[in-house]
Amino acid sequence: MRTGLIYDTAYLNHNTGGHPESSNRVAFTYDILGKAGLLERLVSISPRQAKRDEVALVHSQEYIERVKAFSERGGGNFGNDVVGSQETYVTALLAAGGTLSAVDAVLEKQVGCAFAMVRPPGHHAMPNLGMGFCFFNNVSIAARYAIKKYGLSKILIIDWDEHHGNGTEHIFYNDPSVLYFSVHRNWSYPATGHADKAGEGSGLGYNINVPLPRRSGDADYEHVFRRILQPVALEYLPELVILSAGFDAHAKDPIGEMNLSTFGFMKLAEIVCEIASSCCGGALVSVLEGGYNQSALAESVLGVLHIMDAWDADKTSLYGQEKPVKVSVSGVNQVSKIHGKYWKL
Ligand SMILES: [Zn+2]
Repeated sequence: MRTGLIYDTAYLNHNTGGHPESSNRVAFTYDILGKAGLLERLVSISPRQAKRDEVALVHSQEYIERVKAFSERGGGNFGNDVVGSQETYVTALLAAGGTLSAVDAVLEKQVGCAFAMVRPPGHHAMPNLGMGFCFFNNVSIAARYAIKKYGLSKILIIDWDEHHGNGTEHIFYNDPSVLYFSVHRNWSYPATGHADKAGEGSGLGYNINVPLPRRSGDADYEHVFRRILQPVALEYLPELVILSAGFDAHAKDPIGEMNLSTFGFMKLAEIVCEIASSCCGGALVSVLEGGYNQSALAESVLGVLHIMDAWDADKTSLYGQEKPVKVSVSGVNQVSKIHGKYWKL
């Protein structure tokens, strides 16, 4: 089946001034996708605005009202590393809604998988607090929406952004219907995501954090995906995979401090596609999070979309496996020990 791309020039309207999370990120990436000839192969899907009650699946009415009022005042500084403009509220509704459009297209089988190239990003957003460039938690809203509308009971959220998705973790910390898996730089913003944070109550074992040391690279990430993510996912058997696809762990990123290459992101995308193919007929919704070097972002999105679109379930990895370099092994073994109580690791 074909791959959907959710995008709209209205995503440029959330104006952050000279901030790294700028509209140029997606404008430039979209331009490159066109120049590479990829847009002709993808199914273009127009995003819709999320309805207020859909956003309220995750966020409080009081918080939603606060974002709306902030925008109506003309935006500015929202606090906690978040800035915006008059168009921010509407654009944030379109980012959440675009993610829901992707869920609908995949679960109604109009496309096999989809990439929602949306902004503002979402994975730091808490129910009552915007932080780290994020207003509404797009992937979390999408997961709750898929549960409510399609009756799903097992969703896997994979987050490979350089930063820990503290908002997503918080929202599903007690909830086994969403398994949150994050690999991120240890002590990166907002200094959450420690390996021993494994969930609580009925959600115990359904929150997996793999913090990696600074400058971890392709082989480290692949090791984490093969050693922890893949076996857990195959045991959990999600009905939908959602990917928080941030690209700020790219070696060229000005904010992130990791060493992933574009090729590395493509390898990770292959593993994600393998998991989705094995568990849920390839049902994968990728959602843009961070990534602040324009050319690295564009190249990586192009690479990941190429893998998603060209994925063949009968094929195994194009690239084979590499041994991890130095850094990740002890941390991964620690995660394996913590989660070995809950999963066959
Ligand atoms: Zn990030």
